[in-house]
Amino acid sequence: MTKDELIRLDRRHVWHPCTQEKDHELLPPIPISKGEGVHLIDVDGRRYIDGVSSWWVNLFGHSHPRLNRALQEQAGRVAQHIFAGFTHEPAVELAQRLCQLAPGDLNKVFFADNGSAAVEIALKMSFQFWQQSGLPDKVRFVSISEGYHGETVGALSVGGCDLYRQIYKPILLDTFQAQGPDCFRCPYGKHRDSCDAECFEHLERLVTERQDEIAAVIVEPLIQGAAGMRIYPPAYLRKLRKLCDACSVHYIADEIAVGFGRTGRMFANEHAGVAPDFMCLSKGITGGYLPLSTVLTRDEIYEVFYDDYASLKAFLHSHSYTGNALACALAVEVLDIFEEERILERLEPKMALLDASASTFENMPEVGEVRRCGMVAAVEMVQDKTRKTPFPWQQRRGYQVYQKALDMGALLRPLGNVVYFMPPLTIEEDTLEELIDIAYRAIVAVR
Ligand code: PMP
Repeated sequence: MTKDELIRLDRRHVWHPCTQEKDHELLPPIPISKGEGVHLIDVDGRRYIDGVSSWWVNLFGHSHPRLNRALQEQAGRVAQHIFAGFTHEPAVELAQRLCQLAPGDLNKVFFADNGSAAVEIALKMSFQFWQQSGLPDKVRFVSISEGYHGETVGALSVGGCDLYRQIYKPILLDTFQAQGPDCFRCPYGKHRDSCDAECFEHLERLVTERQDEIAAVIVEPLIQGAAGMRIYPPAYLRKLRKLCDACSVHYIADEIAVGFGRTGRMFANEHAGVAPDFMCLSKGITGGYLPLSTVLTRDEIYEVFYDDYASLKAFLHSHSYTGNALACALAVEVLDIFEEERILERLEPKMALLDASASTFENMPEVGEVRRCGMVAAVEMVQDKTRKTPFPWQQRRGYQVYQKALDMGALLRPLGNVVYFMPPLTIEEDTLEELIDIAYRAIVAVR
């Protein structure tokens, strides 16, 4: 197909995710023909640094030789088979190794095929646990403002980003939402590096008062991704763990975006030294190759579902592609790469580089805050620096920067007025410098 034909047929038949299709009239979808390390290459041979790891999934670059080989080898054995009543080595090895790596005593792994499904599973497991534990009134879920956990109806119900959920509110579950952290515009006048998560009081009050009705609290640990890479301190998670213990409420950690090294540790909860009751993983789990997700939980939770069939206590949730063998084989290879190539140990200079770039951005008149956690850094643009007034969303400032950055050779898909970096963990320092430079020039170019 020629490029023109490709785009014409795409426009005629394809409906893209999270996109106002009319935008494609001015900026048609870019046909990619190849991936090479941290670069995506379009059909004209133009290269783009994948500054957002293709929606936060890619860990070690595109077309990675070891992942390619793992995929091919597994395809030569078996790609997919039913996972009820059957099992396979990649799934078993993956489950065992995830449990070893996970914080606390998470020791059982349930598989699914995308992040939203993992969230739904954790919610259902928590609910059913209480139903089967003599506390049938615990049916409500709590989330925090600006949280994001996926787009299926259950996952949206615990979301806090109105952009994605406002119109669907009439069909969503009845959940509680507490005001969450907002470190950039902290109402307590504190800073995330030195505060004691005073803002936790909102969640604390809600859960304490309504604990008899609450099954679980779900949060994205340390970074609220979709909300604009809003970073908050580990103290918040420590308080959350304590509160959940005190009120007999589950803590569901949605590590879908932050897991697998993004925060500089394997899992974000490690920064707080706490373990959740359910941990949802996806995205980076396969290095960004295939859809796979998991929910890890503790033996005591599993045991409440374990009984004679006639008790009807089983967790009867299933997806056709549960435990896909290709995806599991990739995930095992991803864990090998983490270990053998000492991926986490080698992040230090890159994180230092992101820190060093902060002052450059901070001095820009349209930049309100630069924040970093691990290999994630975000630049929030504001209309008024002193008052921290946002640019009106209708201006689509971030989208304009995105367009300029594409012209300059980088994929920096923004979140509203937030331009952020979440590159593959293996990005070379000079490429990271180039990415930072493009972001800077693109922000200047839209003035
Ligand atoms: N939770 C978080 C924190 C996410 O960032 C995402 C995806 N951006 C999801 C859940 C949903 O995952 P998926 O898109 O695979 O359904």
